[in-house]
Amino acid sequence: MLDQPIFIGSEIYRGSSYGRWHPLRVPRVSTVMDLCRALGWLELGQYKTSPIAKPAALSAWHTADYVAAVARVEQSQTATPEDMARHALGTVSNPVFPDMYRRPATGVGGVLLAGELLADGGIVHVPGGGTHHALPDAANGFCYFNDPVFAIQSMRRNGAPRIAYIDIDAHHCDGVDHGFRDDPDTLLISTHEAGRWPRTGPLDDVGLGNVFNLPVPRGFNDTEMSLVVREMILPTLDWFKPDGVVLQCGSDALLEDPQSRLALSNRAYFDAVHAIMGATSRLMVLGGGGYNPWSVGRCWSGIWATLNGIESVDDLPVSAQEVLRGLEWCDSRHGKNPPLHWFNTLRDQPRFGPITDDVLQGVSMLRARLV
Ligand SMILES: [Zn+2]
Repeated sequence: MLDQPIFIGSEIYRGSSYGRWHPLRVPRVSTVMDLCRALGWLELGQYKTSPIAKPAALSAWHTADYVAAVARVEQSQTATPEDMARHALGTVSNPVFPDMYRRPATGVGGVLLAGELLADGGIVHVPGGGTHHALPDAANGFCYFNDPVFAIQSMRRNGAPRIAYIDIDAHHCDGVDHGFRDDPDTLLISTHEAGRWPRTGPLDDVGLGNVFNLPVPRGFNDTEMSLVVREMILPTLDWFKPDGVVLQCGSDALLEDPQSRLALSNRAYFDAVHAIMGATSRLMVLGGGGYNPWSVGRCWSGIWATLNGIESVDDLPVSAQEVLRGLEWCDSRHGKNPPLHWFNTLRDQPRFGPITDDVLQGVSMLRARLV
């Protein structure tokens, strides 16, 4: 059993960019590393550098042809027409960029290590993980290698045969669904914005009985998320009785994120993490989406605080404020006048609101399956 939560990061994320116009041009994991260090939240022994997964490891789920293609395109910085047609490499969503093999292979290396560290229980945070759209033979939705799939496999190899995968990113986890929807030992729970790309994950898709999808409407708020956690996620965990949980915390469901129309505050994430922590003895927390550099850095740092039981996340010291003041969101109209709370606290004001019928009915339909 780990005696304290472990954070797996890497310097590879510092300065890494998908290109000037891509939503993933912004710094994310490096912000979390810098903020947590500035706050003194990475105690000796809590930080580990992620290894880079080798081609043989990546080929356990991806095709060997695809793994070789990603490595070759990184080397040559050129995608052939076949790379584009068969593997979706070199597209607008999945561009050629300098560390397009090493960066996602680092995400996979991180979760493989995390699974080993969790062999006897504990908590590991891998904010560079969470690329839930990648497919066996192709990149998809900004994702090249599907580290959540490897996270589930790694925990399973290390003594936790039944895994619950929970995904609160604004987008449906189509790649993970592809990998595990027919697996009786994996529970898949996803909340995601209704009608948004990739438009998979409908409420009535049950798989073999372990798939729980909750599409949520625009404006999805903290009150609704609290209901979803209490009335759907926790009871479903209690019903499935997993040996471990992989929690994907894509922060693009936050109000300030440009890639969704959902309206959560980061308190909804902290509360969800806190509740799920209490329901399992083995927890791996991943990142995922998150395209506003301030929101994603504050959210994932606040999640690390939650995992460590740290409550003082307001009134940030100057050293932490400097990390946030040093961020840029080039060529985005959203970042022109950042509000003060993006600098001086990790915690948003709560965004309570009415509970819509869509959320209420969705939760009660999913609840009705727990027999
Ligand atoms: Zn997303």
